[in-house]
Amino acid sequence: MSETSPKLRAELDGVPTYKPGKAAAADGPVAYKLSSNENPYPPLPGVMERVVAAAQAFNRYPDMACTGLMNELADRFGVPVTHLATGTGSVGVAQQLLQSTSGPGDEVVYAWRSFEAYPIITRISGATPVQVPLTAGEVHDLDAMADAVTDRTRLIFVCNPNNPTGTVVRRAELERFLDRVPSDVLVVLDEAYREFIRDPEVPDGVEIYRERPNVAVLRTFSKAYGLAGLRVGFAIAHEPVAAALRKTAVPFGVTQLAQDAAVASLRAEDELLGRVGALVGERARVYEGLVKQGWSVPETQANFVWLRLGERTADFAAVCEKAGVVVRPFPGEGVRITIGETEANDLLLHTADAFLKAM
Ligand code: PMP
Repeated sequence: MSETSPKLRAELDGVPTYKPGKAAAADGPVAYKLSSNENPYPPLPGVMERVVAAAQAFNRYPDMACTGLMNELADRFGVPVTHLATGTGSVGVAQQLLQSTSGPGDEVVYAWRSFEAYPIITRISGATPVQVPLTAGEVHDLDAMADAVTDRTRLIFVCNPNNPTGTVVRRAELERFLDRVPSDVLVVLDEAYREFIRDPEVPDGVEIYRERPNVAVLRTFSKAYGLAGLRVGFAIAHEPVAAALRKTAVPFGVTQLAQDAAVASLRAEDELLGRVGALVGERARVYEGLVKQGWSVPETQANFVWLRLGERTADFAAVCEKAGVVVRPFPGEGVRITIGETEANDLLLHTADAFLKAM
């Protein structure tokens, strides 16, 4: 028998492993999971019925073209079906974007810290990540990002609001940035948390895409729409980008359950967005509560808050977990805390207050 193992791509050596938010302990007295930016509400009754109905037929492959969902999205956003592509969550679509644009020798620019999948999927594609530090205020440094563009740049992610800081870029600065980016570089506006934005100065990426052929918008059903477990996201992009995304999708990747649930969710949008409104209210309460306690918290437009705890990150996460709230630590940097149900937010506020007083 040979001693050598199968040859794997060298690029994979540098690929960090995606760390999912920790689950809440099953055996504790109370445990709330505030570690994955999920929606705390259970599925809406109408959505659940559609999923149960779809489950009767999971011996069959799903509709590979996602016809019903694509038509619904085209109507909803006022875009041609040919400008749409779906995938297994928006992270799946992000991977399709990289497969469509970037390979060895190419560069992908994004802010850092930002969504932790960006370096992973960039390296998997073989391209080189170019990470541009956030400003001191935890916001995308769009001038520095434009400066980082070279003739090797193929794709730029702008995460708006940014995960994990919750900060946003506004219309004027984004337009100024886009004016500086060459038209053959694809700019991806990752708007996973779009529905939580209340700042009127933050532009809707779909409006920007209409004017700019090198802009693609990434959206998901995982957050506001509460379908994280079903894995469905989509992009809105001009041809030929959207066509390339459909080509690079995993065949049959979006299940019929996910497709039908997404359609039902779009039709139950009023109710779902009412829930989002309640979470936005809770966000204000948590933000103001933390600021009042003495924490420095960047202004957030997402369903989470960011505490830059530095060396105390692990301690804070451990104290929270003991108290019954699981948060998302980024060791040495800070903690991201999802806005959850009222009791979870209360518990978090209480724990944060005690932690600060003991410091
Ligand atoms: N983009 C951002 C900024 C995110 O925070 C997330 C989820 N953590 C995603 C994309 C991917 O979400 P999903 O694959 O569930 O759509």
